[in-house]
Amino acid sequence: MRDLIIDLDAIAANYKTMRARAGGANVMAVVKANAYGHGMVEVALKLEAEKVDFFGVADVDEALELREYGIETPILAWLHDPEDRFVEALDNEIDLCVANIEQLQRVADAARLTNLKGRIHLKVDTGLSRNGSTLAAWPVLLLQTKDLVEQGLIEVIGVFSHLSSTGPNEDRTQIEKFDQAVQLVRDSGIEFQLRHLTASDGSLSYPEAHCDMVRIGVALYGLSPFSDNKSAEYGLRPAMTARASVTQVKRVDAGTGISYGYLARAEKESTLALVPVGYYEGLPRNATGKHEVSINGKRYKIDARIAMDQFVVNVGDDEVATGDEVIIFGDPASGVPSADDLAIACDTINYEIVTRMGGRFKRTYLGSVE
Ligand SMILES: *Cc1c(COP(=O)(O)O)cnc(C)c1O
Repeated sequence: MRDLIIDLDAIAANYKTMRARAGGANVMAVVKANAYGHGMVEVALKLEAEKVDFFGVADVDEALELREYGIETPILAWLHDPEDRFVEALDNEIDLCVANIEQLQRVADAARLTNLKGRIHLKVDTGLSRNGSTLAAWPVLLLQTKDLVEQGLIEVIGVFSHLSSTGPNEDRTQIEKFDQAVQLVRDSGIEFQLRHLTASDGSLSYPEAHCDMVRIGVALYGLSPFSDNKSAEYGLRPAMTARASVTQVKRVDAGTGISYGYLARAEKESTLALVPVGYYEGLPRNATGKHEVSINGKRYKIDARIAMDQFVVNVGDDEVATGDEVIIFGDPASGVPSADDLAIACDTINYEIVTRMGGRFKRTYLGSVE
């Protein structure tokens, strides 16, 4: 009745496209937040079969879930709560972002408990002002890190930062600060393997900043990280289609009010089609009056108020029957509305649209998982 169709072959193809653009740098596939709503484990299994170099997630819990499902590729987790399970993380060979001394000490404690070396990626804040050490605190963090490396408790795998995507000037300033921060690591005598800075947008915009690894999220799912570019321009194919079947049709008289608040009325005798997708599924209520869906290949605007479980489309005199297919969004190359269209309708970005799809939708997968 309601499906999110996830095309794993499209994700694999998008990965290859981004890998080809990475110019020899390693590629980290970012699969946090349930792979932006696409299903973390399924996506990771597919990309592991494609020999991706790294996986990136926000929380240690996400990383542990990947290990539970047999993922063996290195995984980096970067957003920590003081309660997070660093001991389990080390036991499962999960790389940890370290942004301050407290986190460094927690990794060292976990290393002492497990007799395993903590694998860390030092994160420097070059201007996004989210996690990461300030440049002011960086030298002391490096001193302490060096000490723990010499004690054999930790190993520095990477040094990284994240751009604010504000504009070329701001991004270039961050790139310079990152280079300076990396130089300080080198000067301190700490050895490490990977510098990484750019996500999808920076990887497309600043090839000179690919460093040793790029961290690719939204582009893997076939979406553009830019609001003014369509992903097809980069050879990317949207991997998610949100589809439902019409659950009921009926003829109503002219003047009939439709859904809460009667934002829409039938101007003449019309057919109404009921679609079982609402804001619980992630279809934002404020797409009402703006987003168009495709039914049997034809576009209809959702004029009547989107509710929690359902919305109603006035299809006029068109022949629409119970069971007919409704595409809420998918690959625009096949003529259907896109996640970008829905994002514009709700004044948000494609990232938020796909990531929040859920509720009673069932994910079904196209393309094999080895
Ligand atoms: C989410 C995230 C990414 C991926 O960003 P995209 O724009 O989806 O490519 C990369 N790095 C970090 C630190 C992130 O939090």
